[in-house]
This record gives sequence, structure tokens and C-alpha cells, in this order.
Amino acid sequence: MVTMRAAVLYAPGDLRIEQIPVPRISRNQVLVNVKAVGICGSDLHLYNNGRIADSIMNEPLILGHEAAGEIVAIGEDVTALQCGDRVVMEPGISCGECEFCQRGEYNLCRFQAFKGIPSTQGCMTEFVAIPWRYAHKLPPQIDHEEGTVIEPLAVALQGLAEGQVRAGQSVAILGGGTIGLMALQAALALGAGPVIVVDLYTKRLDLAKNLGAAHVVNACIEDPVHRILELTNQLGTDVVLETSGTAAAAAQTVRIVRRGGTVVLVGVGAGEVSFNVDLITRSRLKLTGTFRYANQFPVALSLAKSGKVDLCSIITHRFPLERTQEALEISKSQRDSTIKTLVTL
Ligand SMILES: [Zn+2]
Ligand SMILES: [Zn+2]
Repeated sequence: MVTMRAAVLYAPGDLRIEQIPVPRISRNQVLVNVKAVGICGSDLHLYNNGRIADSIMNEPLILGHEAAGEIVAIGEDVTALQCGDRVVMEPGISCGECEFCQRGEYNLCRFQAFKGIPSTQGCMTEFVAIPWRYAHKLPPQIDHEEGTVIEPLAVALQGLAEGQVRAGQSVAILGGGTIGLMALQAALALGAGPVIVVDLYTKRLDLAKNLGAAHVVNACIEDPVHRILELTNQLGTDVVLETSGTAAAAAQTVRIVRRGGTVVLVGVGAGEVSFNVDLITRSRLKLTGTFRYANQFPVALSLAKSGKVDLCSIITHRFPLERTQEALEISKSQRDSTIKTLVTL
């Protein structure tokens, strides 16, 4: 039997590098030799707690869903891709048949199998089988490491689309991690601005500034609500994108957005938050959630190809597969210096 290395999570904090069988591909699948995988907040949730939201680990799980690599085998029905193609994988495989899939809102498919989220095995392994439609070709100017960042860029683009962000609009982004920094760049690429970024860490705020944020606010030092109102003549911003997933930031959104503006809740994990409903009603605010993405990978690839979004800018650390546990530990403990940590193969 042909085997491959994989980083398998057995329980919170218990990650092992193991040899497992190489997957077989079906007629419509391609086999991808993984070259790089990004560590995401959801991987950390699973590593720390064995669960994320209502997805709970019941068996050993290979983590990782932000992955790029090279096609090494194709199923007999695959004509659009060939061996040697470099691709980024879209990790949520939806059923294609339910009412949501039929409407094109396949991110809402209740049968979506998302790689690296229980109970679908993920990408921190040498080879991954995936339906060819979910393997998107990387243009020559985007390498495998940058390719992994297409997934979080797609999340950011979906959030901006839900907020109907367009040219000339002011945007406040709460949370300057991977999603926040991708949303910043994508918002600017769409012509929006000024964009204000709020975070707790100086390094992230410095990077946000370098990537084009008009203002950055350190929430450890200043009250974000007060500061953003000050920066906008007490009006607030047209759109607020909450990417931190904290209850404190989620509660601030309705006080940062301008009258008639839109709040987009992107971050996961805030739980119960109380709002003043009268404020939402009387200011005619729009509040929307956003989940994963539908049809955003081609948009993300096109933005990255144009050079308007710098994927590389957020990659701070790289570890070989054998040191995946260390990569997770560092991402968990050094929040101030790690933005995107990659596992490379
Ligand atoms: Zn992710
Ligand atoms: Zn479906």
C-alpha cells in the first residue's frame, strides 16, 4: 500500500505525524500533491478545544483547509485540468443539489463537507483528492505559498459583497488578522476608502498602515468607538466589518456604523451579544452575517493576479509538516507576531 505523511489531531493538543494511505481518486476528482497549507483560526479552535462552533471531533482529524499544490493524477472524466497544473483548493465540497446549491448559495449547503472541519479530513498531508471543479488553477505569478491565502481572501470578498462595499465608501475593519488584512486590501482594490483598521497588536496595525489603511486604532490604548467617530466627523463609517469574532467588538459595530450603514459580522465565536435594538431601528442599520464564500475563488485569483492584493504580505511564519504542532503552538501563543503561519511540504 502506498502511504503518505499526515498531521493528525487525536485530541486537543495531541497532534501526531503519521503514515496513512494515499487517497484514491474517483472519475471526477484530481489528486493534489500539497505544497503549502495555511493555519487558520478554525484549525486553532480544533487544536485547542477539539471543536469549532457545533462541529465536534469524534475521530482523529487531519487539519487544514487553506491549501495549494500540484496535480499529480486526474480521474477519467476530468478534461479541464491536467497533471502538473498548480492549483489552490476550494475546501467546501457542497452537494450541488439542495435548494441552496441550486440558487448558487452553496456556502449555505447543509451537506457541505469542508476539509479539515469534523468529520471531513483536511489538507495537512501530502496528497488530497478533490472534485476537479474545486481545484482552481494558480496563475504563474502566484506561488503555492501565496496560493494558500486565496481562501481567506475569498472569505473577505464574500464579507465585502454581503456589505455591498463599493467605491467611495468608508469602511471600518475590526480585527487586523488574516481576514481583516485581506478585507482591507480588497476594499481598497474595489475603490472603497478611507479604511480604518482596529486591532490590539501593534505589528498588525503597522502592517495595516503599510497596506493602505488611512487610520489604525489600537483598541488597547483608545476606545475604537470614540476614535472612529472622531475620525469621521461623528458620522461613523458606511460599512463595519467585524472579523475578530469577539463579543466586545461585535457589540461596538452598531455604534461605529453610520446612520443607514451596514454591519457585516464575519468573525466566528462572539456568542451572545446584546444590541440596542432602538439604535438599529432608528438609525436604519443593516446587520448581516457572512459565511465562507460562494463563487469567490475566481474573483480572489483575479485580484491577486492584478497585483492589487498582496497575498505574501501577511505570511509571517513557515514550518515543515513535521513541525506542525510547533506551528500551531506559536500561532496560538504569539498572537502579536504571527499573522499567517504556513505548514510546507
Ligand atoms: Zn480559513
Ligand atoms: Zn447543497
